[in-house]
Amino acid sequence: MAEPNPNPAQSSKRSIERIFVSRLQHGWLKAMGIDVPWIAANEPQAVKPQPKVADTQASMPAAEHAPTRAVSPPPSRPVIAPAAKPLEQVTELDVSTLDLAQVAQSISACQRCGLCHARQQAVPGQGVDKPTILIVGEAPGEQEDLQGKPFVGRSGELLQNMLKAIGHDRDTSVFITNVVKCRPPANRNPRDEEILACAPYLNRQIELLAPKVVLAMGRFAAHALLDTDAPLQALRGSPHMLALAGKQLPVIVTYHPAYLLRRPVDKRLAWEDLKQVRALAAI
Ligand code: SF4
Repeated sequence: MAEPNPNPAQSSKRSIERIFVSRLQHGWLKAMGIDVPWIAANEPQAVKPQPKVADTQASMPAAEHAPTRAVSPPPSRPVIAPAAKPLEQVTELDVSTLDLAQVAQSISACQRCGLCHARQQAVPGQGVDKPTILIVGEAPGEQEDLQGKPFVGRSGELLQNMLKAIGHDRDTSVFITNVVKCRPPANRNPRDEEILACAPYLNRQIELLAPKVVLAMGRFAAHALLDTDAPLQALRGSPHMLALAGKQLPVIVTYHPAYLLRRPVDKRLAWEDLKQVRALAAI
């Protein structure tokens, strides 16, 4: 993935924008590798940054910034992106009457795609029943497959640090799941037919969980939720709207923690996305 090339003019603007976080949050940010002058600890106690989406967009590479996307309003008034569409019900599986536990049971026994053959166990998701934030990742990895939980290991640690940096916690205000619930062999990318076969489960989970904001981590999550194949960098920076079951949910796109572990320099961009999540979660 190409390294982003921030717009110099906007970078200059950001350089005078001080963001105040608590000492605890500062510690989490340092743990994420974010320790830059525009983040100051302990001044003042209340955290009141309102993300400026225009600033965030300026963080995109120029080539990704160029397409037709207009500058968006603040996250408090998310706009419907041109590509935003609901996930389609492409299969005949009817999960519309299932509750959350029944969805998990159905996933655990599911054989709707070839991923069922190599899995140790399916990973339906984990979190609170009425989350503020719903996190959607790509697919279970080796440890997730063994433990039956999403986002464990180093990616899970980084995700927890990211959540704590915005005042949330996977144990109290978050539900975490993936686009596909079973591990692709050798951690290969999930295939279109696998994503489509699994889509009814994710749709039903979103409907039942009814979060304030959805955080799509990585391009597979973003593409599945927003029904687009646009580059991830082009999808970052402004809220999208996901229409599902008569409701509109804001979706923020950011990098997957596994990617951020490989490219720590992009944690700064992820922090811009997290600020938008924090603002939307507070509405
Ligand atoms: S990935 Fe989804 S559709 Fe495929 S077997 Fe697992 S639960 Fe079923």
